[in-house]
Amino acid sequence: MTGIDDLPIRDELRGKTPYGAPQLQVPVRLNTNENPYPLPEPLVARIAERVAEAARHLNRYPDRDAVELRTALAGYLTRTAGHPVGLANVWAANGSNEVLQQLLQAFGGPGRTAIGFEPSYSMHALIARGTGTGWLSGPRREDFTIDVAAAVAAIAEHRPDVVFVCSPNNPTGTAVDAATVLALYDAAQAARADDHGALVVVDEAYGEFSHGPSLLPLIEGRPRLVVSRTMSKAFGAAGLRLGYLAAHAAVVDAVQLVRLPYHLSAVTQATALAALEYTDTLLGYVEQLKAERDRLVTELRAIGCEVTASDANFVQFGRFDDARTAWRRLLDRGVLVRDNGVPGWLRVTAGTPAENDAFLDAVRELMKEQSA
Ligand SMILES: *Cc1c(COP(=O)(O)O)cnc(C)c1O
Repeated sequence: MTGIDDLPIRDELRGKTPYGAPQLQVPVRLNTNENPYPLPEPLVARIAERVAEAARHLNRYPDRDAVELRTALAGYLTRTAGHPVGLANVWAANGSNEVLQQLLQAFGGPGRTAIGFEPSYSMHALIARGTGTGWLSGPRREDFTIDVAAAVAAIAEHRPDVVFVCSPNNPTGTAVDAATVLALYDAAQAARADDHGALVVVDEAYGEFSHGPSLLPLIEGRPRLVVSRTMSKAFGAAGLRLGYLAAHAAVVDAVQLVRLPYHLSAVTQATALAALEYTDTLLGYVEQLKAERDRLVTELRAIGCEVTASDANFVQFGRFDDARTAWRRLLDRGVLVRDNGVPGWLRVTAGTPAENDAFLDAVRELMKEQSA
């Protein structure tokens, strides 16, 4: 039978497996950092209204520059992220994964490299691979914070074209402070001072869940710093596929060189605009999830787990002699969490209070079993 390897596929894709968390039908699914709350009914009705209006014009291509949506996103960031941005600073695409892909298409590519500090979001490396960008795995400390001196040394040594900083970091939940980002930014520019500098991408997919402020204000006066965001988590709209970035206007000009024409459908733009009308309601759910996240941290510690401090809508917990077996045991009890391949650790998404209770009960039983 013909398989992938019989095809003239690119050498670097040979023998690889696609990204994919198991999509299993179990009672409690806490493995992909989704928001557990469905969109409120009035918003669902508003989406239907706006999509119906868009449908009247589906014979035409959508607004290629998504001006209304980008303006609304800029307004949202200006209001919530501590720094004024405008249309020219904001770009949107089908999920922040597409935003990151466009950034690597424009700033990475063959002969270039990107660095991330691992464990971190595995898609950074996969998107690098997909765009032919070399991947460098930078270090993290035992406690999953970024060791600034070691990171700066790695940047000086490898002179990457793109630096990824995930804050709050997936899968560990660890926030990165502004001083660290600035140190990495300066190191990245210094390492490529003979060229045009390096792009630093701060992935703030979980920014709204953080105890601290957004890193967005750091883009001021730093044209090579990009902050990426998504509506998949805080806005409870993973199915929508809408991500965006904020940066100097020149970065927005650059990604337009590689984006597909009309990449953002009129239906997507209409839906995202409707969701943004309900920002305050949706951010109310975020507050509930933050409280549940903090409860998970407290209760997991009370049960006797180690927990990594979290600024996201998930919690990394352990430590297990064999995380894979622990993952299985929880699944046997109807609770699906994530094994990100970090030795000894698992990750659980903050769900509804009932889901979190079910998860905590399952962990309690697991810990009893392990100490028996
Ligand atoms: C979930 C996640 C994303 C979001 O991806 P979308 O394509 O916007 O759904 C981006 N970065 C990180 C770190 C994530 O965990």
